[in-house]
Amino acid sequence: MTIAPDADTTSAPVPTQSTYQNRVAEYWNAEENPVNLELGKIDDLYHHHYGIGDADRTVLDEPDPERRRKRITTELHRLEHAQAELLADRLGPLSPADRVFDAGCGRGGGSVVAHLRHGCHADGVTISAKQAAFANERARERGIDDHVRYHHRNMLDTGFETGAYAASWNNESTMYVELDLLFAEHARLLRRGGRYVVITGCYNDTYGRASREVSLINAHYICDIHPRSEYFRAMARNRLVPAHVQDLTAEAIPYWELRRQADHLVTGIEDTFLTAYKNGSFQYLLIAADRV
Ligand code: SAH
Repeated sequence: MTIAPDADTTSAPVPTQSTYQNRVAEYWNAEENPVNLELGKIDDLYHHHYGIGDADRTVLDEPDPERRRKRITTELHRLEHAQAELLADRLGPLSPADRVFDAGCGRGGGSVVAHLRHGCHADGVTISAKQAAFANERARERGIDDHVRYHHRNMLDTGFETGAYAASWNNESTMYVELDLLFAEHARLLRRGGRYVVITGCYNDTYGRASREVSLINAHYICDIHPRSEYFRAMARNRLVPAHVQDLTAEAIPYWELRRQADHLVTGIEDTFLTAYKNGSFQYLLIAADRV
């Protein structure tokens, strides 16, 4: 590189949304996997995350093929809903006057669960315009659109009011962004003493670098799974102090074992998740932190 004293220092214009973020938005605008839509139709709660807890495997023994599909779909939805409830539990105590921020909200299920649980106001943010429109439509149908709103925005730069939120979370959406930028925005939005919760897959530092399975998951979703240690480092740098850490890996396995047998719902990534969880290279983690 040559440094000339009179070099032209005009910098290139920075796009409001990076090429990578455009790709992520395109992915979620086009996404119509039955595992996301069929489960949501059951009770209009659309979750785009995985499930936890023991699965009722007797649904696999159902002899009637149509009924079998339905029972498997319902059971997977129950497990996904249990995950959303676990997260909502960790946000509290909240009052109906409080606001919460759902970062990377997908088709909106998490904000509805939080509102139904705590009566609070919720702002969900997704980089997919289609998801935000879909989620707002569901909130209108449910008659809660005065409390629960979805926005087509970047969660790293929401433009929302500083210190206005009592709680915030990421449910399986941290692997799309740089954690320092994300946690800085949460720290800005949360009031002092506010609660931040994340549920995420992360790779296990004890194993070493990202395993082959973790790399396959990254390619499948166009994401970049962070190592476990990075969550704690980035939180510490951004006024977020962990109050509760829970390894959900063992509790996530029954969901994947059932899902891999759901021929009408599989996306092809099921065995990769199971191998990654079982060989110790990948963990499913909940961290609840206080904004200090
Ligand atoms: N939390 C939701 C959806 C998880 S899927 C749920 O539990 O159901 C991941 C989500 O992250 C998608 O909605 C995607 O649009 C969103 N996302 C990824 N990068 C984002 C960004 N930079 N800003 C806002 N949302 C983003």
